[in-house]
Amino acid sequence: MVENVIIIGSGPAGLSAALYTSREGFNPLLIRGVSSGGQLLLTTDVENYPGYEKIAGPELIRLMEAQAIKFGTRFVEGDITKVELGSKPIKVYVNDTVYETLSLIISTGASSKWIGLPSEKNFTGRGVSSCATCDGAFFKNKEVVVVGGGDTAMEDSLFLTRFASNVTIVHRRDAFRASKIMQQRVFANPKIKVLWDTAVEEITGDKKVTGVKLKNLKTNNIAEMKIDGVFVAIGHQPNSSLFAGQLKLDDQGYIITKDDVLTDIEGVYVAGDVADRFYKQAVTAAGAGVKAALRVREYLSMLKFEEDQKAKL
Ligand code: NAP
Repeated sequence: MVENVIIIGSGPAGLSAALYTSREGFNPLLIRGVSSGGQLLLTTDVENYPGYEKIAGPELIRLMEAQAIKFGTRFVEGDITKVELGSKPIKVYVNDTVYETLSLIISTGASSKWIGLPSEKNFTGRGVSSCATCDGAFFKNKEVVVVGGGDTAMEDSLFLTRFASNVTIVHRRDAFRASKIMQQRVFANPKIKVLWDTAVEEITGDKKVTGVKLKNLKTNNIAEMKIDGVFVAIGHQPNSSLFAGQLKLDDQGYIITKDDVLTDIEGVYVAGDVADRFYKQAVTAAGAGVKAALRVREYLSMLKFEEDQKAKL
């Protein structure tokens, strides 16, 4: 069976594409992948998705999914091992199963970046985490460091104050890039302090994290700090490795698109953070998912027209 459209990824981009293509009657198949639900599942309160004054990230995803299912989206769990974008129909491999489709929407999102220290790797899951929402509760009455200066670092720090006795934000510059409102909340929270112009040089411990070595980037001084946990919140990298060699990627691995969603391959569209160097919001990802769905509609109706013309000959 050849599908009309397969959507890879189940964050706001994929689910919005699923909603639109299912309402068009294309009976889309959505493949979830390992980071099912995308970054919203790791988010606490969302206050900037229009229509919701405040909603938990996982709840927003649940509602989007229910809406897509209502109109006929089918879901498949599994990690994609290979894609053949140039073949007609397009082929998508989930382990030994091959799915064939006339069109494809890639909305694989982005994953957390790591600092790149060997000690960070050693202690991942033993005091080092990139997901405050997942692991925060393990740090009740403990002292933690959050690395980063963007909205994620602000949000994680604020969330962690629910559990930790205190939170220290370690940032490499002397100003945050986070939105004003998030910065204000951080500065107003007595449990949070900030170390400016500072980098984590090493994470120390034995079985678990017990401290960090911090470098002041202005003076080069190294200081040791006793700590129970390190949360890394330094941004994200696009989940695009599956498509390298078949689609154009930029120097950071984002898929290069035209008009947000178009690729050089007919029938292959991209939506959301995997192609978004700049905006990276749930609502912009959802918007890109809609654009991709409308391009699929255009493409499938062109294929239908060509088929009808052939049949007339
Ligand atoms: P981001 O905005 O790219 O910020 C990453 C932060 O980490 C920056 O402060 C950066 O420092 C720092 N950094 C990067 N690489 C580093 C390294 N190797 N070592 C130390 N520090 C490093 O990423 P984000 O905070 O994950 O946010 C991504 C997007 O999602 C943004 O558009 C944000 O607005 C959005 N977001 C929104 C919300 C919300 O509205 N509730 C919540 C989370 C995320 P520099 O500043 O020096 O570059």
